[in-house]
Amino acid sequence: MVRKKVSIVVPAFNEELNVTVLYAEVKKNIPEQYDTEFIFVDDGSKDGTLIALKELKEKNPEVFFISFSRNFGHQNALKAGIDHATGDCVISMDADLQHPPAMLPQLLEAWEDGYDVVYTVRNDKGNGTFFKNLTSRMFYRMVNMLSTTRIEPGAADFRLISKQVAQELSRITENYLFIRGLIAWMGFLQKSISYKPGKRHSGKTKYSFSKMVRFAAIGITSFSVKPLRISLIAGFIIALTAMGYGFYAIYAALFTTLALPGWGSLIASVLFIGGIQLMVLGVIGEYLGKMFLESKRRPNYIIKETNLEKTQ
Ligand code: UDP
Ligand code: MG
Repeated sequence: MVRKKVSIVVPAFNEELNVTVLYAEVKKNIPEQYDTEFIFVDDGSKDGTLIALKELKEKNPEVFFISFSRNFGHQNALKAGIDHATGDCVISMDADLQHPPAMLPQLLEAWEDGYDVVYTVRNDKGNGTFFKNLTSRMFYRMVNMLSTTRIEPGAADFRLISKQVAQELSRITENYLFIRGLIAWMGFLQKSISYKPGKRHSGKTKYSFSKMVRFAAIGITSFSVKPLRISLIAGFIIALTAMGYGFYAIYAALFTTLALPGWGSLIASVLFIGGIQLMVLGVIGEYLGKMFLESKRRPNYIIKETNLEKTQ
């Protein structure tokens, strides 16, 4: 029987003390019958991540690395790994061991059962900070309210995809990547498995608050133009209300003595409408800005150094 090859894709940004441990843990948990290939993507690390990877490579020929010219972000690092994977299936997981390697056999089993995508969903009970859980819940509620593609709340970037899905994903070259949304959008036979995230092995989280906000904005604007439509509807409602109020103002000026004391309501409505206009302009600007940046068709990432033979 031909042995199947599993590609393990790991984005790593300043994870010098994690990559070697992760490699060992994954090796321990992958069932015997599979060949493996590891693709570590060094996302512009400033610490010894690349050195650690080179050392790992010396002892283990199945280890490959791709090193970016700067920090291009987690999603682009994932894409680079998937673009270069050659396995029959590709498993992506974080470098910090929060995605439990003990679950690998379960993912592979589901793949053998015929699923093209096996993704995991975080089970946060009694885990994670209150703030992160709350913002994550709010984020998924908003994305699912606004978008036609449903993304399961808590879906993580710990997943197995078949070679075919990986190839299709590689054809997508949009700059603002939200891979879990794209996976949901792509279809295929999908299965979800719940997991309890482990503790970060070493180092601190690489997702700062501002990175999280940016990621959320991409998630929302990549899959829906509903915010534009909502702006339009809000504009209509306000314009109609303003018109009604205008008629009332004319009536009041002509037939009553109420006209002058109306300063308070006047200023309130001017400010309100002004505020709404700015908000709508902001929404339009967000999409326009994205179109502008997307139209440049810049590559998702730039590779500075790699030990892979084929690059792109
Ligand atoms: N990561 C990356 N580039 C970045 C930020 C993060 O490659 O700009 C990697 C990081 O090294 C880790 C994974 O993405 O392997 C998830 O990041 P992290 O564990 O810091 O996020 P958290 O688990 O706190 O959400
Ligand atoms: Mg983590």
